Amino acid sequence: MGRLFGTNGVRGVVNTDFTIDMAAKLAAAAGSVLGKKIALGRDARTSSPMFREAVVSGLLSIGCDVIDFGVLPTPAIQYCLKHLGLDGGLMITASHNPPQFNGIKVFFGDGVEIPRSLEDRIEEIYFAGGPKAAAWNLVGSVEHREVLDIYIESIVNKVDFVKIKEKRFKVAIDPGNGVGALVASIIAQRLGCEVNTINSDLDGRFPGRDSEPRPDNLLGLKTLLKATGSDLGVAFDGDADRSIFLDERGEVLWGDRSFALTAQDFMKNNPGAKVVTPISSSNAIVDVVKKGGGSIHWTRVGSVDVSRAMVENGIMFGGEENGGVMYGIHHPVRDGSMTMALILGIMTEAGRPLSTLVAELPHYSQLKDKITCPNEKKAKLLEALQGKISAPHVETSDGLKLSFPNKSWILIRPSGTEPIFRIYAEAATQHNVEELMRVNKKIIEETLKTL
Ligand code: MG
Repeated sequence: MGRLFGTNGVRGVVNTDFTIDMAAKLAAAAGSVLGKKIALGRDARTSSPMFREAVVSGLLSIGCDVIDFGVLPTPAIQYCLKHLGLDGGLMITASHNPPQFNGIKVFFGDGVEIPRSLEDRIEEIYFAGGPKAAAWNLVGSVEHREVLDIYIESIVNKVDFVKIKEKRFKVAIDPGNGVGALVASIIAQRLGCEVNTINSDLDGRFPGRDSEPRPDNLLGLKTLLKATGSDLGVAFDGDADRSIFLDERGEVLWGDRSFALTAQDFMKNNPGAKVVTPISSSNAIVDVVKKGGGSIHWTRVGSVDVSRAMVENGIMFGGEENGGVMYGIHHPVRDGSMTMALILGIMTEAGRPLSTLVAELPHYSQLKDKITCPNEKKAKLLEALQGKISAPHVETSDGLKLSFPNKSWILIRPSGTEPIFRIYAEAATQHNVEELMRVNKKIIEETLKTL
């Protein structure tokens, strides 16, 4: 049996690896597992209206009722479907992928991506030919529903909007022509900010920049921030579940910085709390959580694993190093706009510029690399490495993570989708992390040659 689901939903190149037939059949299979009332949302990609029709057809054909939320951010459909008590939801999006891609994310009635076990069940039904179609008189119905206000209201109410408003911050926003454009400026304005934007019209061809925000494609936002003298810059990925921030000097803060900053603030308000994060996260998170008297609940790499661990263990905060912050008091999923509101709250409370707040966080040097490895050799390589590399602490829940006493660590992890191993390393200094990567990469490459 093939695999449909990747790390986060089903994705592929439109009309090549991801077709309307697949979308309809997948929607029907998902609907048969989720229940009767299914929320539907889509991002602003050029192919999303086409897939919308296919997904609606698939759901109606098995007797599901569709509540169509229209074009909106992924975290907005997630929050609203739970808020309205629906049985599940489907979002047509390829997140931050290039414009030729599209896909589907599947949510359970709790508004969180379905667990891996349910993905397996949906795949089984899909590959067995799909669920049984309903009799003519049991075919479902469609209704449209505007929900953005419900979502915006929840976010504004999760921060001290009265205090934030008094600061009259200036914020520069770059939604990258994605669906963040529908909510981010409104939320910032509701928080009393003066907002300036770039790439803020919806355009599924992503003419402004790639829909994955990176330091090298945020120069437009940096220019806007400087020209307007803004206190904060915010860039969103294509479906607005992730946000990346620029400080008032225009320096891009990578996701682990905004995650550490928001985690530190959460610990201040919730001393002793637990925080969920994947084993690829920085020791900076460990430091701020320990300082707040709390502890880390580690998971495998992937936002779904983090969200599910939050729900199952009643933990209210989680995140990833790529800028995905999950604030369970609003909703336990990645949410770019919620993160923006939290950061504005932190700046208000501290009364100091963002660059200063970030400079005060614990800092480690990190490196990421990869090596090519055929899929059939992945398991053998991991096994062989366990005999060759030793460390005081070895973790094997997701690849191989070796931790050393001086707070350095290296994680060697097979990609679920490509014939590569990803290597993550962290140490106290740049020199140490380079050395750690060099030595271990050599061992990995030599071991691979012997297989
Ligand atoms: Mg995304």
